[in-house]
Parts: sequence; structure tokens; C-alpha cells
Amino acid sequence: MVPKAELHCHLEGAASPDLVRRLAARHSMALPDETFDENGNFAWSDFLHFLKVYDIASSVIRTPEDYRDVTYQYLMDCAAEGAIYVEVMSSPDHAAAVGMSYADHLEGIVAGIEEARSESGIEGRIIVTCVRHLGPERGVEVARQVVAHPHELVTGFGMGGDENTYSPHDFTPAFEIVHAAGLPCTAHAGEVAGAQSVRDALDALPVQRLGHGVRAIEDPDLVRELADREIVLEVCPGSNIATGVFENYSAHPLLALQEAGCRITLNSDDPPYFDTSIGREYDRASTLFGLDDDALRRVTLTAIDGAFADPETKEKLRAKVAA
Ligand SMILES: [Zn+2]
Repeated sequence: MVPKAELHCHLEGAASPDLVRRLAARHSMALPDETFDENGNFAWSDFLHFLKVYDIASSVIRTPEDYRDVTYQYLMDCAAEGAIYVEVMSSPDHAAAVGMSYADHLEGIVAGIEEARSESGIEGRIIVTCVRHLGPERGVEVARQVVAHPHELVTGFGMGGDENTYSPHDFTPAFEIVHAAGLPCTAHAGEVAGAQSVRDALDALPVQRLGHGVRAIEDPDLVRELADREIVLEVCPGSNIATGVFENYSAHPLLALQEAGCRITLNSDDPPYFDTSIGREYDRASTLFGLDDDALRRVTLTAIDGAFADPETKEKLRAKVAA
């Protein structure tokens, strides 16, 4: 099995339907019928409905123990598929929405990472994210919390949310706070919105990576710049097909970006919603993009190069890929 590494997965979006049902029972919460389809999977019809079901399912994650369970189960599932390193994106805004403090939500995630590591050897790190459509002031607030609560497993800062609200420039102050504290950054761009959104993110934010970034393909000069600047792209093909960013795998620009010299990684984004997992992303890259095991190992090494982890950890991970 090719060792795998993942840089882009939203923790709340990683909770399986089974775990969501279990957490709902734990809190005596009744979930609306529309949450699941007849097979018990998450049911959603279009992007806005996806966001609604996602919010309903996320609302059952309410305590540090819940966060621990979501993190632990996700990392153990990844380890079973051959993953040796996973970065999870946490959202303090979600925690705040259910009345949990930053410190409490972090405590749960850290416990999940540490237990999964001691049982399976998988390394995990946390990228704390702000949510674009909640606005720049909330972004600054999240950035301040990150800096006020340093933790060795919190190794990066990012931004998700609706790419069509606000602009990356509005979030420069938030990113500058964490960047000044020495944390590397990434941001979603070039997924729902086009190449200009990638340009804006690069101009406005101190990012070394981009979440998605795939619609840069619309602008050859931009593709060249991404390659020259060695920006690592957190590519999520299964997510892109599921949400309709690209019609099918043959229309997906992963190979074109790679051939243009861009640094490509494979990621699952919100796996149970998009019928995917890190293992399935690697499998489909093999069967649908034609990447052989050597090419997949290089994808893993690119992810390790771009990982927000310390140099010693990265060396250990590279040795595992070489073994
Ligand atoms: Zn994402």
C-alpha cells in the first residue's frame, strides 16, 4: 500500500453518518429526516443543501469528548487506508456556535490525535480556520485565539467558507496576526470562484498553500506563477466532481496542473459527503488519472514537503515513504 498524506480535511465534515447518529443519541438530539438518505448516508442535492445538511450534522459535535471521538475515528480510518500523516482543519466558529470555548474544542481534538497516534502511528496536526462568510472581524478574533493559545499540534492557519463573500484582502489583518507569530498559512481559493480568486488570495494573504486552487487552470500566467512560487495545491478531485466544480474526472485539471509544474496533493475535503476518503482519492488517482505507485509516492512526498509540521517529523515521514 502506498503511504498517504492528507493536508485538506474539515474535521466537522469528516464525521461519518454513524458517528453523527451516535453523537445525536448522546445528546438526545433528533435529526431531521432529510439528513440521511435511505441507505443512511448524508443526503444533499446541491451545494446550498450540502451546507445545510453539513450544519445540521455538525451541530451534534458539542463537547470536547465529541471532538475527540470525531478526530480519533477519522485518523484511525485514514491510518487503516495507509495514511501516515493528516492535517485536520478545525473551526472555532463551529465550536463557539454550540457554546464551546476555543480551549475546550482544542483539548478534544488534541486528545483524538494523541490516541490515534499511540494506537496506529499516524501523525496528525491541526490547522485552525476562520470562515470567510462570517466576515473579517470574526477572522481576526479566531487569529487572536490561535496566537493566545499556542499548542505544538496547532501548526497552521487557514480560511474556508463561501468564496463569493468578502475578498481575501479583507482577511489580511487576520492572517498577518498568525503569520507574525510564525505560523504558516493556507486559504481556500479557486474552487467555487475562478482564477481571479486565486490571484487575490496570493496577493492578499501570506499563504504557502491553497485549498483547491484548481481553477487557476483558467489563467496560464497564474499557473506558471504557482509553479514558480512552489505553492502547494490541496487538490480534492472527488469533492470537485461531487459539487460540480468539474463535470467529471476527464474534465478535472489535476494532470494539466501537474504537467505545468504545479505541486499537487490529494485530499478528501469532507469525505462522507462526497463519497470519498483519502484511500479512495489515491485509488481514483491511479485508475482515473493513471498515476502509478511511484507517481503516488511523489504526491505523498509533495504533501510532506508542504505539510505544516516540524522538520524532524517530516524526515521521519519521508523515511516511511521510502521504506
Ligand atoms: Zn475545503
